[in-house]
Amino acid sequence: MESSEKKKGINRRTFIKAGIAGTATALIAPPAFADALQQMAATDQSPFPKPVYRTLGRTGLKISVVSFGAMLTPEPEVIRVAIDQGVNYIDTARKYMGGKNEEIVAKAIRGVRDKIHIATKTLPESTTKAEIIRDVETSLKTLGTDHIDVIQLHHLTGRERIFIAETREALTLLKKQGKVRFCGVTTHKNEAEVLNALADDPDRFFDTCLVKYNFKVDKAVSAAIDRAASAGIGIIAMKTQVGGYDITGLGGISAHQAALKWVLQNPRVTAAIPGMKDMTQLREDIAVMGMPFAYADLRRLDRYAEAIAPFYCTFCGTCEAGCPRGVDVSTVNRALMYAEGGYRDISLARATYAELPQLATAAACVDCAGCTARCINGLDISAKMERARSVLA
Ligand code: SF4
Ligand code: SF4
Repeated sequence: MESSEKKKGINRRTFIKAGIAGTATALIAPPAFADALQQMAATDQSPFPKPVYRTLGRTGLKISVVSFGAMLTPEPEVIRVAIDQGVNYIDTARKYMGGKNEEIVAKAIRGVRDKIHIATKTLPESTTKAEIIRDVETSLKTLGTDHIDVIQLHHLTGRERIFIAETREALTLLKKQGKVRFCGVTTHKNEAEVLNALADDPDRFFDTCLVKYNFKVDKAVSAAIDRAASAGIGIIAMKTQVGGYDITGLGGISAHQAALKWVLQNPRVTAAIPGMKDMTQLREDIAVMGMPFAYADLRRLDRYAEAIAPFYCTFCGTCEAGCPRGVDVSTVNRALMYAEGGYRDISLARATYAELPQLATAAACVDCAGCTARCINGLDISAKMERARSVLA
């Protein structure tokens, strides 16, 4: 007679197979995904923990602490498996994958829309009433849904866009029409100013902030997160794995999990949305739900920080004051990270780079007599700009 342990293992495998087959039949199962299913079925342990939820500020939404950043996910099945395991907040944007990302999310949420919350974004350049309404209507259509849970103004680099009257007018109308439930913003540059402006806004117009937050963050951003969270702003963390650089050279340590745990140990942060391309990344990331941040994680992060120090840019923008030609060094470096970090997404990298005015790209450095921009983290800016020209131009 089989032991109860073994029975449990068989039941778990059966559960995994049955649970995933249930969703996959409704979707396309590409070879990579089928391989992942086989690998999972061959293990005795479920790779998925019990999900943990926190409340997203004054929205009151209860969302999984590891939620889904969909920007890099080419297969809807991966998102669907996450949903089946209790991940209930999906972050996307029409801008990602040249507009295809919302289509992928639409496939993943078919039939389970009522179980999840969808966050998407207006285009970064949209500010007028007509532009905001157009963006939301397009996203609704593409996502195949009648409402967006959190619509976010994309990529704020200062306080100005928070207070544009036309933008607010459009969002208020969309809320009245039931097309949007809550409004938020996203920021990965000058984050402290954006967060403080949200906290100080007397109208309390915006409810959430998706903010770059990781173990390399500076104190001003941490303090601003505290202030914004105290004011009821729901805080969602992105860029949590510091570029997701390949760390195989570090002897197989799981620095990515440690980085995620570091973020989630802050109770001011409701959730993180790591970008998950495939089943391997999904398992790695959602496994941390409920895990404490330990001393060993600190050691791992020290080693990770040391390994990425020669090339990791925090996008602080401090060096830009030293460039007489106005090169947007932080955005050029962000685009480079999309190409060469864990993202490995050359189209996202090129699209990000192409959004810059030509004079703010690394092309402006070609005949510069000598780089006068100084990195507070010791990066060789001139070399980074040269690398960007060869990879992104
Ligand atoms: S080399 Fe340095 S100082 Fe010269 S344009 Fe480029 S970033 Fe600016
Ligand atoms: S190159 Fe250095 S100073 Fe410039 S944005 Fe990056 S980290 Fe900041």
